[in-house]
Amino acid sequence: MKNSRALTRRRFAFTFTAATAATSALAQQLPNQTAAPGSPQQGSQNTNAGTQTPAAPRRRFFPEEQPPFGETIVFTRKLVSPKVQAFPMSDVRLTPGPFYDAQEANRAFLKRLDADRLLHNFRVNAGLPSSAQPLGGWEAPDCELRGHFVGHFLSASALMYSSTGDTAVRDKANYMVAELAKCQSKLGGGYLSAFPLEFFDRLYKREKVWAPFYTIHKIMAGMLDMHQHCSNQQALTVLEGMADWVDHWTAPIPEPHMQSILDTEYGGMNEVLYNLAALTGDDRYAQVGDRFTKKKFFNPLALRRDELRGLHVNTHIPQVIGAARRYEISGDERFHDVADFFWYEVVTARTYVTGGTSNAELWLVEPRRLGAELKLSSNTNECCCAYNMLKLTRHLYQWTADPRYFDYYERTLYNHRLGTINTQNGHTQYYLSIVPAAWRTFGTEDHTFWCCNGTGVEEFSKLNNSIYFHDGENLYVNLFIPSELNWKEKGVRVRQETKFPESSRTLLVMSPSAPVRMAVHLRVPRWCAASASLRINGESFPVSAGPGSYLTILRTWKHGDRIEFDLPMHLYAESMPDEPATQAFLYGPLVLAGKVGDDLTEQMIIGRMGPDLRHHPLSVSPLRAAGQDLSSWIKPESGHALAFRITGQTDAITLVPYYQIPEVRYSIYWTVT
Ligand SMILES: [Zn+2]
Repeated sequence: MKNSRALTRRRFAFTFTAATAATSALAQQLPNQTAAPGSPQQGSQNTNAGTQTPAAPRRRFFPEEQPPFGETIVFTRKLVSPKVQAFPMSDVRLTPGPFYDAQEANRAFLKRLDADRLLHNFRVNAGLPSSAQPLGGWEAPDCELRGHFVGHFLSASALMYSSTGDTAVRDKANYMVAELAKCQSKLGGGYLSAFPLEFFDRLYKREKVWAPFYTIHKIMAGMLDMHQHCSNQQALTVLEGMADWVDHWTAPIPEPHMQSILDTEYGGMNEVLYNLAALTGDDRYAQVGDRFTKKKFFNPLALRRDELRGLHVNTHIPQVIGAARRYEISGDERFHDVADFFWYEVVTARTYVTGGTSNAELWLVEPRRLGAELKLSSNTNECCCAYNMLKLTRHLYQWTADPRYFDYYERTLYNHRLGTINTQNGHTQYYLSIVPAAWRTFGTEDHTFWCCNGTGVEEFSKLNNSIYFHDGENLYVNLFIPSELNWKEKGVRVRQETKFPESSRTLLVMSPSAPVRMAVHLRVPRWCAASASLRINGESFPVSAGPGSYLTILRTWKHGDRIEFDLPMHLYAESMPDEPATQAFLYGPLVLAGKVGDDLTEQMIIGRMGPDLRHHPLSVSPLRAAGQDLSSWIKPESGHALAFRITGQTDAITLVPYYQIPEVRYSIYWTVT
C-alpha cells in the first residue's frame, strides 16, 4: 500500500497407459496444452527464478498511432465462458493440516475484533453517536485510510462463513452491514466512508491525499462479498448506492482529468464495478468501471511491453484483475491481453523464488534483474501483491484450464502465504523479507491494520477456494490439501487425505451417491522429480507422467473408490536470473530457509512492517559448494521429512521449509562459491 505520508511446460503428452480392466477405462488428455520454451531441469540448477509458466503471450498488431486504449472505451456485454470453474466455497471444507490451522487462527482473530470499534469512524463521520474505543494504526481516527480494513473485514467474514459455515462470523458482519447502511443513509447520496467528502475534493484538485478510492473499493468489495456469500440483500442495496455515488462523482470529469486522478491509488474500483454489472445485469456499472481504465498503464501491456519499472506494485495488480473481469463480461481482447501479458511478465521476470514480487513496494529494475533489485531494500514481497497475484492467476487458469498456472499458485501459496500468519494469534505480515539475515515481522491485535493485514484476513478465509475445479462434467484436483468436497450437482463427495508436503502422497476417496462416469484430472506439478505413481483401489497402474500437466483418469466411480497418488520431490536450486551465484534451494514446491542468527527481540518483530536490518545488521557467509550435484553436500537430516543439512561449512546450517521457520534470522538466497 503506497503511503503518501510516510513512504515507505512443454507439452508433457505423457501417456498413462494403464492395464485397464474392462470396467475401468482410463485415459488421459491434456486440455489446452501448448509448447513452452525449456523444460524442468530436475536435479540441476535452474536459472529461472520464477516457475515454469504457460507459453509467452503473442503480440497483437496495433498501428503505432492507435494505442489499444484510445479516447473512448465502449462497453458491450458478451460473456466469455470459462473452461473450468471453482466450486462454491461452501462445498469445500478444509480438514486438519497447516492450512486448517491458518484458517482457524484467522477465524479466531476475526471473532475477537469488536464490531462497534470497527464501526466507530463511520459513525463519527456520519454524525452518529459512538462511544467505542477507536482502533489504532491505519484505522486510527486521524488516518486517511480509515475504513479500509472494515471493507476487508466484511469480505473476510463473508468468505469465512462460506468456508466454515460459522454463523457467529456471519451474524457480526450482518450487524455491521446494517449499521453501515444507517451511516450511508445519514450521509446521503449513496456515499459511505469513514472519512469526509473533503478527501475527494482534494483528490479532484490533485492535492495531497492518501487513497480515497482505494478505501471505497474495499468497502464496496466487502458489501459485494456479504451479498454473494451471506445472501445479505441490504449489502447489495448499500453497494448500489455507493456505485451510484461513484457514477455521480466521476461522470462530469473530463477524460484527461480523470486519467490524472487515476494516478492516485484506487485499488480494484474497476473490478468491483464490473462485478456489480455482472451481478445486476446493469451495463451502466460497467461503463462507470471503464472510467477507471488507467490508459498509460494498460496501453503498453496490451502491446506486450514491460514498462513496469518505477510503478507501485500493489497499486497496479488490482487494476489488472479488473481488466481480467472486464474481458470475462465483454470478450474485449484488449483487456484479455493486458491481463495475460502482465501475469506472464510479472511471474517470469519480476518474481522472487517465494512467488512474491515488489521491493520497497515498487518494481525497481528492468525485467530479469532481480539479483540487483534484491540489494536495493530489505522490504521485499509486499504480502498484498501475492494475494492479488493469486487472485489474478485464478482468472487466467479458469480461462484455459492450463495446470501450469498452478505451479505458480502452489509456489506462492506455500512460500508466501502459509507462514505469513502467526497461528498463535492470527496476526499477519506486511513485507516478506528475503534478504540475507532477515526475519518475519507481524502486525498487532488492534493498532496496525495495514493493507496486508486486510488482504491477510481475506486470504486465510478462502484457503479452500482453489483446491478443486470442474468443467460441469469432470473434476480437476490442483492442490494437495486435506479437505472434503461435496459436489452437490453431481452427487459426488470426495475426501482428500494427505500429510502433504511432509508426505509426497495423497489419497482421494470417492463417494458418489450412485456410480458416476467422469474424468478426474490430477495435477502433476512441475517440480515432480520422477514419474508420479498411481494406485486405484490398491492396484498399481504404470504412469508415464510429465510434470506441468494433468493425469486424467476416466472411469465409472463407485462409492469407496480410492485413488492413491504419489508425487516424488527432489532437492534443486534456482539462481537469480542476473546472478548465477545467488541461489535458493527448494524441495518440491517448498523454498528452504536456513537459520543464521537468533538475536531477535519482541521489539524487532511485533508491530513492524519489515525487519530493520539497518539497525540490526548481520552478514551471512557464502556457502562453499562441494560440487555441482547438490546431493553431495546438502543431505537429508535424519528424522525430519523436510529438513536438510548443508555440509562442509564453517557453521552448521540446517534448511527447513520457509513456511515452518520459527522466529529466527534466516537466509533464503545464498551466495554459493
Ligand atoms: Zn499490503
